[in-house]
Amino acid sequence: EPIGQLLHAGSRLQIGLAAVRRLGDVDQMQAEPVGTGGTEIPGQQGVRLLFSDVRFRYGPDLPQVLRGVSIDVPALGMTAFVGPSGAGKSTLFALIERFHEPDSGRIQLDGRDLADWDLTSLRGQIGYVEQDAPLLSGSLRDNLVYGRPDAADEEIRDVLAQTRLDSLVERLPDGLDTSVGHRGNFLSGGERQRVALARALIRRPRLLLLDEITSQLDAANEMAIRDVVTTAARTMTVLVVAHRLSTVTQSDRIVVLDNGIVRATGTHDELVVNDPLYAEFAATQLLTGERRR
Ligand code: ADP
Ligand code: MG
Repeated sequence: EPIGQLLHAGSRLQIGLAAVRRLGDVDQMQAEPVGTGGTEIPGQQGVRLLFSDVRFRYGPDLPQVLRGVSIDVPALGMTAFVGPSGAGKSTLFALIERFHEPDSGRIQLDGRDLADWDLTSLRGQIGYVEQDAPLLSGSLRDNLVYGRPDAADEEIRDVLAQTRLDSLVERLPDGLDTSVGHRGNFLSGGERQRVALARALIRRPRLLLLDEITSQLDAANEMAIRDVVTTAARTMTVLVVAHRLSTVTQSDRIVVLDNGIVRATGTHDELVVNDPLYAEFAATQLLTGERRR
């Protein structure tokens, strides 16, 4: 959201982008919440996330968006969040990144409150990709490495192959050094989404948050991305907000969120039997041509 506002800022755009590049990390543009602890997150694989009775509203006169959410996410594997629009899925991600603080309840990472971790360290361990992945003006390379400028070429090439961007790079006149245009408008929506995912992977995060990232991908690319994400989940914690059954069924666990409350948690097979909302979601997806793998 702050990135979006920045990029909309008209005449301040170029100044803003220069500042962003100097910072090297867009995350640092976020205001610092109070209660920031000093403990750096150790560089091991995956993080355990524990939500305990988390309540949150966006303002004193606004309705409660999270109404007592408790979830235990183990350090490895993929956890999918499904539920109607407005259920609070993206809000949960924003709380993990500490863009907002819960009104009550706790969110713990590896056994400590989020606020006890150093904020820069926390955000440095999180790779976040959203539906409308914002790109910066500049080259494709700039966009890929701004979270980790020291990334080796070999590693970049690896991730490009995984995200199926290698053929794009071959087609571009100056390869990785080709400009992506204003906000990446030389690329298609699906390419921008894959660039954003590649950028997140190049950062080697311990926690990957993916919010409806396959919305603009065609079937072939979606399948490729699914494979990348499944592989990533072997070495890091992956949380994915998904509206496609094909993404959800490959998850290790599924959390059904509805109107700020966790309705049910389980595997696909458990939930189709136990949760009518999930069963309806699954049935609708199958009717519209989605296939279980
Ligand atoms: P989901 O991602 O499940 O669709 P969100 O977490 O985006 O749901 O939103 C949950 C609720 O919070 C919705 O009612 C939405 O309108 C509201 N909401 C989201 N962001 C804001 C915001 N910045 N200010 C006020 N209300 C918001
Ligand atoms: Mg959302």
